[in-house]
Amino acid sequence: MNAVPLRNDKAVNGHVRQVTVLGATGSIGASTMDLIRATPEKYQVAALTANTDVEGLAKLAREFGARFAAVADPSRLGELRAALDGSGIESGAGESAIIEAAQRASDWVMAAISGAAGLRPALAAVDRGATIALANKECLVCAGDFFMSRAAKAQACILPADSEHNALFQALGSGNRDELTRVIITASGGPFRTWSAADIENATLEQALKHPNWSMGQKITIDSASMMNKGLEVIEASYLFALSPDEIDVLVHPQSIVHGMVEFADRSVVAQLGAPDMRTPIAHCLGWPDRISGRAAALDLAKIGQLTFEAPDYERFPGLRLAYDALRAGKGATTVYNAANEVAVAAFISGKIRFGGIARLVEGTLNAAARDGSAQGPATVEDALSIDHNARNIAATLLPQIALKAS
Ligand code: NDP
Repeated sequence: MNAVPLRNDKAVNGHVRQVTVLGATGSIGASTMDLIRATPEKYQVAALTANTDVEGLAKLAREFGARFAAVADPSRLGELRAALDGSGIESGAGESAIIEAAQRASDWVMAAISGAAGLRPALAAVDRGATIALANKECLVCAGDFFMSRAAKAQACILPADSEHNALFQALGSGNRDELTRVIITASGGPFRTWSAADIENATLEQALKHPNWSMGQKITIDSASMMNKGLEVIEASYLFALSPDEIDVLVHPQSIVHGMVEFADRSVVAQLGAPDMRTPIAHCLGWPDRISGRAAALDLAKIGQLTFEAPDYERFPGLRLAYDALRAGKGATTVYNAANEVAVAAFISGKIRFGGIARLVEGTLNAAARDGSAQGPATVEDALSIDHNARNIAATLLPQIALKAS
């Protein structure tokens, strides 16, 4: 069985679904819990996890009667135990507890931990053959081939939760792989879509966090402003659906209503549309292979009036070009791309580099890793984490010179 399933590969209708939410206290976690809250009789919460937000985690665990709650920060175990006192909910702390949450029996797992930290827990769910709604794109960007082949081996179902990939997943059912000519993922263009290169260079954190359409976590919002997020999504699409870089196009669509399209040989283009609300793709994953009631506003195209499209500008948004370069360079380069971007975003947030420095740091790290040969395709999770670690070190070394340099 392919890891990205065909409809009816695994029918789950008719029984209470056991669900686990990794990253329950985040933005995707909140949307997932909101959907579960709407029909609590259909779900039993097996496990919930957080990084440091003990209060938020304990509140959710109590509300949903979770069996197990885990916090990644090992120093918070006492706090979590106190917050769950008298509830009968089991608890744990540290990375091993997060992995235990993923390993515990459940039918469906939302993988919504942010960053490369989500890789091991998602793999733990993959290895027991779970159905996994994958929001954490870093799993694929860091170790895509490895992740997908392990999923196929364990007969795990990977359901794309990212809105663009979920759209492609829905549209791909209209034809066969050999009839597909290309996929198109849309991009809102972010808050700097119409800005000059000079203004983008000096954009502030506050400006980068003002996304025109989507309400998301801080890291992904900054990635949307730099279009690094779209770069990560191009890489994600390549691994998820086994597509070459030439089969993936990006189209800027400021209204964020059309999320993805698939073009077939007969020139039919099949698109998925919806209001920009992550609860729609998450609902598709949560109900799959059936459809459940959504929580997003119904789409009113007459009210929206106009849908517009434009080609992406690879000069003003070099992060997108770098993603294609990394994909073409080979497997380990996408791991480097992601790691360098995480370092760069953290440096931007803490005021160490300008906004324009994010792409420069990623480019510099990709070039240095290519020179020292450290970006070989990862064959194990340890390989992926070692490439990631090495790239972070390179990026940290390059940081002072990027900080001084303007474009
Ligand atoms: P958030 O930052 O809002 O939430 C991240 C979640 O992961 C929180 O529960 C956080 O816990 C937890 N977490 C963070 N670091 C660790 C760690 N080291 N170990 C264990 N848990 C950790 O992120 P989002 O919800 O926005 O994004 C989650 C993932 O989904 C990302 O990979 C993102 O790219 C992807 N995604 C997000 C979309 C969105 O609309 N937000 C859209 C598509 C994909 P705590 O609260 O305690 O910090």
